[in-house]
Formats: sequence, structure tokens, C-alpha cells
Amino acid sequence: MKQIQIGDATITSIIERDGPWRRPQDFFPNYDREIAYRHFAEMPDFVFDKASDRMVITYQTFVVRTPHHTILVDTCTGEDKGHPPPFDFPKQRWLDEFNASGLRFEDIDYVFCTHLHIDHCGWNTRLVNGRWVPTFPKAKYIFHKREYAAWEQATKEEKNPPGNVWRFNCEPVMQADQGLLVDDDYALDDLVTLTPTPGHSPCHCCVNISSKGQRASVVGDLMHHALQVREPDWSAGVDWDPVQSAQSRRRFFGAVADTGTLILPVHFPSPTVGQIEGGSDGFRYRFLMP
Ligand SMILES: [Zn+2]
Repeated sequence: MKQIQIGDATITSIIERDGPWRRPQDFFPNYDREIAYRHFAEMPDFVFDKASDRMVITYQTFVVRTPHHTILVDTCTGEDKGHPPPFDFPKQRWLDEFNASGLRFEDIDYVFCTHLHIDHCGWNTRLVNGRWVPTFPKAKYIFHKREYAAWEQATKEEKNPPGNVWRFNCEPVMQADQGLLVDDDYALDDLVTLTPTPGHSPCHCCVNISSKGQRASVVGDLMHHALQVREPDWSAGVDWDPVQSAQSRRRFFGAVADTGTLILPVHFPSPTVGQIEGGSDGFRYRFLMP
């Protein structure tokens, strides 16, 4: 994704990995191949790799620069976490793209996590002298308080996911006094707000950026693939509550369809950004081509 402009704010992407990833039949319990291929026929080729029968999935962080703040939304899988395959991505690409954006770790004012899964909070921390420390030394990290509490509880009960994710990526941030636990109605300022979209995780939130009448929304894992815009009931098998996840998609799509809101789904391949269109036969995702 090239840089996009939302009024006085700019948004750019830092990619950790991209390319063909999972087979949709393994990922969506409600998957129907015939229906899916009908939808693929009207989607751009880059969303699905027919040769390997795999969805094309990107892992990325969004950098939001407002006149007042530099913000990261979602921080990929990170480094030194010891994740087993397939989450043992090489880390250099993310670092290279972060550096190429002209940023240093100390330039980040806020980190938002749409939710606290393995691939959305990894760069929150780094391993320094055997201790997990916040990667961004001057940043405040915004976590939804019930999302944080749910993964704290799951970790203490030794339930997976996220296993070590909360312990490595979230708890050290709070211990360093850089975390801020917030509720649904949190607003950083006039530009940056949250929309609760629970289901994929206990308190998944979209992060909205609004300026001068324009609006964008980083939608995290509200959906993993454009198929889910056509078929909102195709919840991911990994969802915390698949019924609630589908309800959140329908509500969100209904609210943003045909409004001009730019949508930024973390896992959609480049150019990523698009708009939701309504219609008598359901919703569509229209990628904004560069
Ligand atoms: Zn994800």
C-alpha cells in the first residue's frame, strides 16, 4: 500500500510477510468451494493463488501520522518470540520497512492493538539482556481492558492461544508503566477512536482515523479475506466466538457501506486499502488500486 491521506493524517504500511498462506477450506468451517469461486471470479487475481489453492495473506503494521502523534496500529509477530512454524517469520523485512519509513523506535507516541493475538502485538516488546521490554520506549500502548483481562486469565489457566503471547507482549508493557487499559468509548483525540467489533477475539476493536471529513478504519481481523465481505457468516475457525464475529461484520459493513470510509484490513494483500460497497445481493470489497 502506498501512503494514503485522511485529511491531515497519513497512513502507511510496514509489511512483515506476504504471499499465499492458508487454504480457505482449512480456515473457514462454513467454506463452500463453488460459492467461493463464483466470488473469486469478480475479485482481483491477487487475493487468491489458484495454483496452490491458497489465500494470499499479508501481515502488516499501519503507521498513522497525525499533526500531533505518530501511532502504530498492530505490531505483527515480532522477533525472538520463539513461535513455532508457521509463525516463525523472518524479522528483517519488518525492521527494514520500519527504518525505511524514517522512524526510530523512540519516535512512536502510541501503539494500538486491535486485539492481542500472536500476529498483532509481537513488536510490542523486544528481548534485551534476557528481559522483555517495550520496543517503543516513549510510547503509550492502548489495550482494551477486557481484551487484556481475557488473555491474562487464559494465560494463567495455561490455555492457548495465545500461550506466551500475553506474557511476552502485553504484561511487560504494563509492568513498564507504558500500558493504558481502555474501554469501548476510548478516544485518543478528535482523530483517533475505537469501534468495538468483538468475536474474533473477546474485545476486538477497529481503530478509526478521522480528519477533515475523511475517515479510515483499521479493521484488524474483523475479516481475513475479501470472501468474508461477500459471505459475512464465514467466520474463521480460530475465532473466539464465530457467531458474534459474523454479527460484528454485518453491523460494521452496514455502517460503513457506501460512505467513502477507507478500510484497512491487516491481512489483505497489497494494495490492502478499499471500500465496502452495499447492494441488493450483499456487500463487496472494492480495492482502491494505485
Ligand atoms: Zn491476525
